Amino acid sequence: MHVLVTGASGFIASHIVQQLLAKGHRVRGTVRSLAKEKDLARLRALPGAAERLSFVAADLRTPGGFDEAVRGCDAVLHTASPYTLDAKDPQKDLVDPAVMGTRNVLLACQKEPSVKRVILTSSMAAITDEPESDHLLTEADWNNKSSLQRNPYYYSKTLAERAAWEFIEQEKPNFDLVVINPFLVIGPSLSAGINTSNQLFVDLLAGTYPGIMNLTWGFVDVRDVAEAHVRALETPGAKGRYITAGETIGMRALVELLDKNGWAKGNKLPKLGMDCGAGDFAVRLSSYLQPKGIGSYLRTHVGRVPRYDTSKVRNELGVKFRSVESSILDTLVDLEREGHVKREAGTAPSH
Ligand code: NDP
Repeated sequence: MHVLVTGASGFIASHIVQQLLAKGHRVRGTVRSLAKEKDLARLRALPGAAERLSFVAADLRTPGGFDEAVRGCDAVLHTASPYTLDAKDPQKDLVDPAVMGTRNVLLACQKEPSVKRVILTSSMAAITDEPESDHLLTEADWNNKSSLQRNPYYYSKTLAERAAWEFIEQEKPNFDLVVINPFLVIGPSLSAGINTSNQLFVDLLAGTYPGIMNLTWGFVDVRDVAEAHVRALETPGAKGRYITAGETIGMRALVELLDKNGWAKGNKLPKLGMDCGAGDFAVRLSSYLQPKGIGSYLRTHVGRVPRYDTSKVRNELGVKFRSVESSILDTLVDLEREGHVKREAGTAPSH
């Protein structure tokens, strides 16, 4: 197939590009600027890239900006969307590009009869703003709480996915829509930069967290997320939304895992136990001193254990998830290789 991947040099998208090329597809990738040769060089070096990968510039905010990019494509994987918890102007920096970008991509696809399927990278952020420990999340759940003030990144993803489904409902285009809703994506990066989600480990080792908080993350490996996208493309019966997540892990277990694998020495892993009622209270209170987006994330997640049903993606798309421990340790080794974190000599990981 000839496939368009938007935001091709992004953390998740570059793995999608790698897997598509490995499966013999022709890939066109959009990037905001073709001048970012450093980002593109790694993609150009992927097996199959010389023969089957090309790039075109496109910005999410430009009306008609994707018309040329989708020309002749059989399918579009729309992953581009700003991902930051700390936006200065959430409307302009998050919501506008997420929603306008999604509509621009869908409008371009509507004009191009060759496009048969669009796969949208949404997020668990469109499923829940504040996971309830006693509610098993499924694809039927929608985030109804986020706003420009409260978890604005979550708001941008919810509005963008809603806009996509509304478009399908109203326009009844020639293509179908499949949506991937990943949880927190970690794993080795094909680009030199640090993704917002992998930054968590850099912060944890750098002593940014004052203590071990009552936080539990649902992680998923970037290679598994990319595979879910590719399978959604190649599975004719793929339909609707797919929660894409591996196992959850709490901050205490995460810190212990890193310690056991040699990451404590020379770093500042948190030690102070704040994973108790008083700790939750302190985290909520101090969250008001954090940048707005990070503060609201802490207030809506502390003390909560996300629970979710991943049977749809496993049964319908056949995705098998890596263990959370191996994924975390692979991420750390990759961050070390790229020079983002350090470990004292002689403290090699046990896996
Ligand atoms: P990245 O920041 O690595 O990728 C985001 C991509 O979007 C980049 O390629 C970026 O381009 C592009 N982009 C942002 N703004 C614009 C714009 N105005 N015009 C054109 N392109 C733009 O993040 P991820 O790979 O993690 O995210 C990819 C997708 O996955 C996003 O939709 C994100 O919401 C979603 N997601 C991510 C999760 C995670 O934990 N990482 C979890 C769930 C969903 P540029 O390089 O030029 O900035």
